[in-house]
Amino acid sequence: MTIDLRSDTVTKPTTGMLQAIMNAKVGDDVYKEDPTVNELEKRLATLFGKETALFFPTGSMANQAAIKLHTQPGEQLICDKWAHVYNYEGGGVSFNSGVSCKLIDGKRGMITASQVEENINSPDFYHSPLTTLVCLENTTNKGGGACYDFDEIKKIRNVCNQHNLGLHLDGARLFNALVAKKETAKQYGEVFDTISICLSKGLGTPLGSVLIGNEKIMHNAMRVRKVLGGGMRQIGFMAAAGLYALDHHIDRLEEDHRKAQELGSALKKQSYVKEVETVETNIVIFYLNDSIKETEFINKLESNGFRISAMGQGKLRIVTHLDYTDTMHIHFMNFLNKFE
Ligand SMILES: *Cc1c(COP(=O)(O)O)cnc(C)c1O
Repeated sequence: MTIDLRSDTVTKPTTGMLQAIMNAKVGDDVYKEDPTVNELEKRLATLFGKETALFFPTGSMANQAAIKLHTQPGEQLICDKWAHVYNYEGGGVSFNSGVSCKLIDGKRGMITASQVEENINSPDFYHSPLTTLVCLENTTNKGGGACYDFDEIKKIRNVCNQHNLGLHLDGARLFNALVAKKETAKQYGEVFDTISICLSKGLGTPLGSVLIGNEKIMHNAMRVRKVLGGGMRQIGFMAAAGLYALDHHIDRLEEDHRKAQELGSALKKQSYVKEVETVETNIVIFYLNDSIKETEFINKLESNGFRISAMGQGKLRIVTHLDYTDTMHIHFMNFLNKFE
């Protein structure tokens, strides 16, 4: 058996979730007639204090739709250089919206209000693309599960207000941040125009993301989703998994965070580890000493039944999740401590 720690997307539905999926009442969601999807959307909109929400097959599609809703071709958005929307969505920002990205050299995937302000193109200077949107990520993926300081987000909101910019949150792992920092969804709903959240990461569903926002910005969301090919039919089965996850899989994220902390501390003590980045949620990023090559290390783990990912530039990543049990954790901790 392999213990797969490459990502929190590798989980399989639990028995309880499968039950919820089997019992779901469904309809054709393209006609907006799927009661379970409607319930999930309403529940998330309410949770974030927004007027409306829309279910998407993937987080990438939810982000891409949001960017489309906020921008016109030729415009520019501001994001960190490690942003998922820039690095891992296949160039969709330019393909889908004809928009360019102004990349900020932030810290662990996070940017500051003054960095945003410095990177807004003057609207009168018609040689440069018009800046219209800021995209933040919380927690950050490439940044190793780091969480924003909420005060900084509020400052960024003020800058957006002053310059008439939209503010979108890629909240694929927002629930990890809410649990780790003891923040609320409402707080986030108050400062962001649109928020995408993933049900398929730490929350453990087979698929699904939801884009949340007020009517005004979301007005065209159904059309954009259709254009992107994301209109699904009896998808209430997956919305049922989402509702189940909201009920049962949020508070337990703390457990994933604890395990990640423990793995980080164990790695820090090993002679073959050069550096471990601060563990804030369920992601551990670390670097090896010159004594061992990355591929050799990964192969050794693999042959012992552990799978982790290499993110390039010497970055190794472990992600804890719902299917990483206490027994697996003890087993992996022992292995790391004995590894030569
Ligand atoms: C996983 C992830 C997404 C969405 O990915 P999909 O695989 O398209 O669901 C978006 N942003 C971040 C930061 C992510 O980690």
